[in-house]
Amino acid sequence: MSFSDDLLAWYDRHARILPWRSPPGAPAPDAYRVWLSEVMLQQTTVAAVRPYFERFTARWPTVGALAAAEDAELMAAWAGLGYYSRARNLLACARVVVAEHGGRFPSTTAELRRLPGIGEYTAAAVAAIAFREGALVVDGNVERVISRLFAIETPLPAAKPQVRAHAAALTPGERPGDHAQAMMDLGATICTPRKPACAICPVRGHCRAFAQGRPDAFPVKAPRTPKPHRRGYAYWIEDQGHVLLVTRPPRGLLGGMRALPVSEWSDSPGLAEGDWDLVGPPVRHVFTHFALDLTVLRGSGEFEGEWWPIDALAEAGLPTLFDKAARLALEHRMETAC
Ligand code: SF4
Repeated sequence: MSFSDDLLAWYDRHARILPWRSPPGAPAPDAYRVWLSEVMLQQTTVAAVRPYFERFTARWPTVGALAAAEDAELMAAWAGLGYYSRARNLLACARVVVAEHGGRFPSTTAELRRLPGIGEYTAAAVAAIAFREGALVVDGNVERVISRLFAIETPLPAAKPQVRAHAAALTPGERPGDHAQAMMDLGATICTPRKPACAICPVRGHCRAFAQGRPDAFPVKAPRTPKPHRRGYAYWIEDQGHVLLVTRPPRGLLGGMRALPVSEWSDSPGLAEGDWDLVGPPVRHVFTHFALDLTVLRGSGEFEGEWWPIDALAEAGLPTLFDKAARLALEHRMETAC
């Protein structure tokens, strides 16, 4: 049997049931749902995405409904999912689909690629899954599977062109959407980063890493350079049951999100003038390009912002970093009140 026959026969029996999917062989799912799930899944696990996807599609069942959402409402609904530029791009994209495409997603990789926030991978995934285009869908999972299938010795990311060439050769003319999803499922459930389950792998007869007895040796990775480390302060300032929140500038890290007031984030951040108490050890958060230790201080100082009721803080849509900082401040508040 060919690689594709083996893979699709396995997928027909073992496809993961996910709220944004159609079962194998069924009519293609709605492009809106495929697009929304793919954007949410970037850098995020299926388990984390599932409840967000269900809440989003219940509240905004179509791309038109999403396009009409208020920015702040959408940013708050996204809170906790991370990588907040995705939420801003989501709105921008939905609005362009409504304004320029009559509320229907275009059907080819090339047209999808021109929409805001849609990169090469997402365009290919939507085209393959929702519109059955024979697009080349290669994410980190697929890179790992292909690196093992062909025992590619070149380290990633330099091996990317080689990986794509092999992936293209494996993509069948029939059922390209199911092929893409089957590769995703294979990478997520069988050919996992650690301890791949080769004994039950449907394509082990085609796998060079398995034949060589060293699947864990792939993908070969270039040595990592450690992320730079920065420090910063976040300020918890309260008055009569309210805490002072700011809205971060629209561009940049956590742009447009509500947050606690902060110092700059650098090697040696300056402390704002005021009267401050340390609330505990710093909150550690790792961003894409640097790691941050955020020290939380309670007290009084001068910042422009809005007073938000502490009892309703869960509705402020604070991103994870500031949610952790707020919890720390609230614990300290309880301890010092006792
Ligand atoms: Fe991955 Fe093992 Fe299957 Fe090869 S045989 S594709 S290494 S799970």
